[in-house]
Amino acid sequence: MKRILIALASVIILIGGVFLFINQRSASKSTTTSGNKELNVVTTNSILEDMVKNVGKDRVHVYSMVKRGTDPHEYEPRPEDIAQTTNADAIFYNGLNLETGGNGWFKKLVKTANKQFGKQVFAASKGVKPLHLTTNKNEVDPHAWLDLANGIKYVKTITKVLKEKDPKNADYFQKNADAYIAKLSKLNQDAKSKFLDIPAKQRVLVTSEGAFKYFSKAYHVKPVYIWEINTESQGTPEQMRRVLAAISKYDVKHLFVESSVSPKSMDKVSSETGIKIYSKIFTDSLAKEGTPGDTYYSMMKWNLDKIHDGLAK
Ligand SMILES: [Zn+2]
Repeated sequence: MKRILIALASVIILIGGVFLFINQRSASKSTTTSGNKELNVVTTNSILEDMVKNVGKDRVHVYSMVKRGTDPHEYEPRPEDIAQTTNADAIFYNGLNLETGGNGWFKKLVKTANKQFGKQVFAASKGVKPLHLTTNKNEVDPHAWLDLANGIKYVKTITKVLKEKDPKNADYFQKNADAYIAKLSKLNQDAKSKFLDIPAKQRVLVTSEGAFKYFSKAYHVKPVYIWEINTESQGTPEQMRRVLAAISKYDVKHLFVESSVSPKSMDKVSSETGIKIYSKIFTDSLAKEGTPGDTYYSMMKWNLDKIHDGLAK
C-alpha cells in the first residue's frame, strides 16, 4: 500500500512538472505588453532595428521589414511583414515622409495589420526639427538620422516606448540607452569639428540622392546631389546638367555613391568630370551583418571617416 502511494505521488509530481514545463514554454513564446515576456517589435528599416536592439538587447524580439542594402522610400510589404506587424506590441517607423511618401506603403500596411498610430505605431523622428526639400518646400526631408544629434533623439523616443510597453524592464532599457547614447554623443562631438581642417571650397559632398541636408548642416559640409529624393526619377538629363554645373563651382576632390542606390548615374558624373568615386557610403540602409557599417554607430563612423578622407585628398 505504502509503495503504491509513493508511486502514485511520483506520477502526480511528474505530471505536474510536465504541465509546469509546457506552461512556461507557452508563456515565453506568447507576448503581451504586460508581464516579463519578450516584447515583439517591428521596424521599417535596419537603422531603427539596430537602435531598438541596442536598447532592448536580449529582452526584445525585433523584426525589420526593408532588407539591408535596399531602398526604404518605395517598398512592397510581403506576407511575413503583415504577419509580424499584426503580432507586434510596438512598430517603429522613421516618419518625416520616409515611408509615407512615394507609394505610401507603410500607411496601407498599418491599416491591414489593424494597428493605430500613437497606440502601437510610433515615429522614431518625433521631436526632430525637420528640414524641407529644396525642390518642394512643402515636403520634409526624411534623412534626419544622418545627424547624430537626431539619432540620439530617435533612441530616446524608442526607449520611452519600450519602457511603457514593458515597465518591468524599464530600468534595464534605460541603462542600455544611457550607455548607447553616451557612445553616440562622443562620436557626434568629434564630428562637429572633423571637417574644419579642409578648405571650404573643397568641403563639398557629392552624392546621388540629396540625403545629406541634416548631415551637412551639423558637420559643416556643402551637399551637392543628382536627384533630391529617391522617390523622384533618377539621373534625368536636367538633373545631370544641374549637378555638373554645381560641381564646376567648387574644388571637388572625390564623389561618393550610396550603398542603397544604383551607381549608374554617379558613374556617369565621374566619367563626365574625371573625378573619381572615393567610396560607397550609407544613407538609407545599414550594411550586411558582419561587414563595416552594419550598425547605426559604425555606419555613421564609416561615413564620417570616408567622407573626410575623400574630401581632404
Ligand atoms: Zn533616402
